[in-house]
Amino acid sequence: MRQGEFKPKGRVFSGARPTGKQHIGNYLGALQNWVKLQDEYECIYCAVDIHALTTMEDVGRLKENIREMVLDWLAVGLDPERSILFVQSWVPEVMELHTLLSMVTPLGWLLRVPTFKEKARRQPENVNYGLVGYPVLMAADILLYKADTVPVGEDQLPHLELTREIARRFHNLFGPVFPLPEAKLTSYPLVLGLDGVNKMSKSYNNHIELAASPEETLQRVMSAFTDPARRYRSDPGHPDICNIYRLHHFFNPERTSEIAEECRKAGIGCVECKKLLAQGINQALAPFRERRAQIAARSEYVEEILNEGARRAQAIARETIREVKERIGLLWGT
Ligand code: SF4
Repeated sequence: MRQGEFKPKGRVFSGARPTGKQHIGNYLGALQNWVKLQDEYECIYCAVDIHALTTMEDVGRLKENIREMVLDWLAVGLDPERSILFVQSWVPEVMELHTLLSMVTPLGWLLRVPTFKEKARRQPENVNYGLVGYPVLMAADILLYKADTVPVGEDQLPHLELTREIARRFHNLFGPVFPLPEAKLTSYPLVLGLDGVNKMSKSYNNHIELAASPEETLQRVMSAFTDPARRYRSDPGHPDICNIYRLHHFFNPERTSEIAEECRKAGIGCVECKKLLAQGINQALAPFRERRAQIAARSEYVEEILNEGARRAQAIARETIREVKERIGLLWGT
């Protein structure tokens, strides 16, 4: 790392697949942390559209999904003045670095990655080349922008270690270019979906969108599973195994003890308890929803932000690619 190249606290990179409108699991699990990091770091946040192609989900809706996701990013408080927000493929240098890094990455490293095995099992009809090279593209994302800090949960540590391994191998072969990125461990709360079993996710249709209307939110919450042992209103409940109760911790934190107590003695019914939760969610998200509507009304705004983000990201990327090529010996007197 060159002296004076980074802000005192360093540069953060993080990316998210363009899944469209974000849900409360995305917010509690990642976005609220991204917003906080802006206070201390130079942050680069990316909609990773090329990664999305490895599973070919929703490809026809990529553009719309990116727009909806970025609208949510802006409305929760990602600030394009302080952070670079952009779309991965708009800075094609990432694909160039991906190819160059793939030459120094032993295949064995990639075949051992548990998420590759898992994805290959889930889509046996489409075990594509991109799927196995996914961690190399991820390494390219991080290294291209010389990020030295990557917010990760404990489960993602092996991926980051692989990025570091790839960078080390490049350095051993050609000399130093990249800072070795450090993990910024974050204890992401596990947010279960409305089924109370799986992680909140669009693919399980067990989510509540941040941008949902108050009525939709109420409807979604009313459909949620609660304590399965509580069959009648008069049955005492077990809040500790009820996902509605867990969600109250985020949206009605000051009332959790009272709710638990009332639930245990059947003083409150699940219908009433869910209505309280929907109220809490709607109240907490009202300012977000208002901001989102205002931003959405500015028709070209998201595209402008992303264009400007790509321009800034590309300035960093071009410099890195130049250094990489110079180290490898691909530049001829330029
Ligand atoms: S009253 Fe609330 S906490 Fe208790 S089981 Fe019903 S939904 Fe869950």
